[in-house]
Amino acid sequence: MIQNSDLRRALADRLRYYNELGIYDFYRRDPTEGSPQPVQSAVKPDVVLTPQPEQREDMSPRKSAVVAKSADEGVFEILNSKPEQTVTDPVAALKLIREDLGDCTRCKLHQQGRKQIVFGVGNPHADLMFVGEGPGADEDIQGEPFVGRAGQLLNNMIKAMGLRREEVYIANVVKCRPPGNRTPERDECDTCSPFLMRQIAVIKPKVIVALGAVAAKNLLAINGPMSELRGRFYDFIPSGARSSDPSWQGAKLAVTYHPAFLLRDPRQKGEAWKDLQMVMKYLGLKPPQKSE
Ligand code: SF4
Repeated sequence: MIQNSDLRRALADRLRYYNELGIYDFYRRDPTEGSPQPVQSAVKPDVVLTPQPEQREDMSPRKSAVVAKSADEGVFEILNSKPEQTVTDPVAALKLIREDLGDCTRCKLHQQGRKQIVFGVGNPHADLMFVGEGPGADEDIQGEPFVGRAGQLLNNMIKAMGLRREEVYIANVVKCRPPGNRTPERDECDTCSPFLMRQIAVIKPKVIVALGAVAAKNLLAINGPMSELRGRFYDFIPSGARSSDPSWQGAKLAVTYHPAFLLRDPRQKGEAWKDLQMVMKYLGLKPPQKSE
């Protein structure tokens, strides 16, 4: 327990600041690795972060949740919880994430000409989720991802999979339009993507399709050319975000070309179709009959 009230207040302020940035999970560094930082050293909850081997069962979320906690531990529990984790309905949970995002000014994209935040659209219960890199001009105007020419092509891709746009969920790594449609920068992706991770944890899709290299590299945190990233499934768990459903063990993630790239180089559409067929097989989807 932290005895010093000034330290406790400063620590609570710091945690609120991180929460404002969309960062909720904090981890205690092994004291043998070096001098502990104030946040890490102060977060020494006796119950949550110091498991005893013989008490493994007590570490399950349900049991630890009913263990009495000191006032300080209560502060940390509240600050480390994401608001949507208190609800199981994905519609309500997404609304809470959107409210938490607010009129976001967390990264510099908020002052580089965005008209509005493009949060995401689609079925909150979707089995399939598409993730692009960021809004373009049309998306910025309409407030919805993938509504321009690239969006039309994505709609056709979804239809070819035997689905309707309303049945999937569509979002981007960053929610504000980068000026001149430039690639979002590392700090912008790092600041915004925790909200995407939380959306994924709420929607709990079976499959995520990363559209393009920027989405793939941000979701997977790996580098590589598209030729290496495509053609296989990855096991994906959203980093830093927990689902309220403990039975959800993450999604399969596939990588394919961004529709905007396919508009520039239509010869690659056949390759993209192979990626989508892999997803269809996993989800048991059949392409629509000609008459449909
Ligand atoms: S891109 Fe994301 S983090 Fe940056 S201002 Fe927009 S909503 Fe906020």
